[in-house]
Amino acid sequence: MIFDAHCDALMKLWMDRTLSFQDGKSLHVTFQSLVEAKTKVQCFAIYIPENVPEEARFTAALEMIDIFFEQIINRFPNMKFVQSKREIKALADNEIGAMLTLEGCEAIGTNLAKLKTLLRLGVSSVGLTWNWANSVADGAWEQRGAGLTRFGKQVVTQLNEANCWVDVSHLSEKAFWDVLEMARFPIASHSNTYALCPHPRNLRDEQIRALIHKNGMIGITFVPYFVKKEKEKATISDVLRHLEHVCSLGGEYHVGFGSDFDGIEETVAGLENVRCYENLVNELQKHYSETEVERFLFRNFYEHLPR
Ligand SMILES: [Zn+2]
Repeated sequence: MIFDAHCDALMKLWMDRTLSFQDGKSLHVTFQSLVEAKTKVQCFAIYIPENVPEEARFTAALEMIDIFFEQIINRFPNMKFVQSKREIKALADNEIGAMLTLEGCEAIGTNLAKLKTLLRLGVSSVGLTWNWANSVADGAWEQRGAGLTRFGKQVVTQLNEANCWVDVSHLSEKAFWDVLEMARFPIASHSNTYALCPHPRNLRDEQIRALIHKNGMIGITFVPYFVKKEKEKATISDVLRHLEHVCSLGGEYHVGFGSDFDGIEETVAGLENVRCYENLVNELQKHYSETEVERFLFRNFYEHLPR
């Protein structure tokens, strides 16, 4: 059983309406591959590409939600829309849960009603920024490195009230600390450890400790350049080193996976698409007990669901 906290298949389906979620060749995540991977829950992010003009972003988010329900949920009887532990628990053996998440608050501009609308439509986790600044906070690549804005604080309060995950992946360090102070349910859906790979998208040890202390989650991600700095190809063993590092900081109950499939051009050797989770499972089984493997792949994220 696998719980994957982040993929960008929705963005690809939105950009190319001829793609099929059944078996689309250019998709890392398809219905067929989720079945083969034995995925139990897949999170689908609403990510608005940078070139979409400001006034078109909310509409784009709504279109992606429409695609989510029309092409993923309604088309495949075994794909079930889930938002809570209860709903995941109720899934039959051959059913796969699909969660809706937001990657970056660009879609809502400065309008809280837009956020509330997305929550009502079923968004269960909200990433505050992508890599740049928006009206909520600064992202990891924004030189200024500012924290939460006044509006950003209203957003986090709203997410707390809605029992919603606040996703710190992509945030600037300052914004990360602001969120950790305020958010009831913080997670990093797709980030690795800075200690092993010093990239601005990765989390420093003190950030990881703080997330653990706040009962949050870290989804180890398969983005090659967040896994390994060197030019040589990142491997599954390199990915597992990040997992082990989070565990060494006391995070064995706070770590899972957030692949970023369909959000990446290059892939880790042996993790070319969601089907390849099998390789990761095999490698995990060499180093960890059955209970630990189950926890990393599924249970940790599942148990940290706020609803
Ligand atoms: Zn991302």
